[in-house]
Amino acid sequence: MSIAIDGPSGAGKSTIAKALAKKLKIAYVDTGAMYRALAYAFIDMGNPQDHHRALEEMNLKISPEGIYYKDKLLTDELRTGQVSKRASELSKEPAIRAYLLDYQRKLGSDQDVVMEGRDIGTVVLKDAKVKFFLTASDQVRAQRRYQQNLEKGIQIPLDQVEKDLKERDHRDCNRSLAPLKQAEDAIVIDNSNLTLEETVEKMAAIVEA
Ligand code: C5P
Repeated sequence: MSIAIDGPSGAGKSTIAKALAKKLKIAYVDTGAMYRALAYAFIDMGNPQDHHRALEEMNLKISPEGIYYKDKLLTDELRTGQVSKRASELSKEPAIRAYLLDYQRKLGSDQDVVMEGRDIGTVVLKDAKVKFFLTASDQVRAQRRYQQNLEKGIQIPLDQVEKDLKERDHRDCNRSLAPLKQAEDAIVIDNSNLTLEETVEKMAAIVEA
């Protein structure tokens, strides 16, 4: 059984997908972290122009425990503004998407999984049992991201956070390859006025119906 969750930045996809996977007792796959890890490695390598070669030379290991670069598990370094922006820029490149697609499909076919990203219901797991499009209002998404930053000790003004989110969403929605959009058979969940628990309950009820 595979569950696809797509949606814009800051809609709570990662937290919700993780909690849903736990509730359903199946694996959780964060595809955004893969794009972020590639972006982190590209930045570390000095942003090479030859993407194919960079991917071959990059010492990146994607495993169920997480993503290792140069044998180091990547965690907080994937969440910086610089990495978010670079991930969104690189994710429009065909070589980058193709590199991750096979891997993501394999993860989705080897096991029951909740997989989240931007193109899971439309490209990666087109046959997913249930597809969700998770969203929230611009203000709520910005406020949540602002709060998450504060909790990590990062202070970015709210209007800057809102501007960064909008820029990233615009890029993700308007690229030619696998743009962020709702799958035709996706169920839209707007969680602007729902708590994490309420959102997960609602989604689990749909999956188990
Ligand atoms: O979900 P997250 O914010 O971690 O994703 C980082 C970036 O990776 C997104 O802005 C998007 O450009 C890209 N991405 C993608 N397709 C996915 C997941 C993420 O293009 N399935």
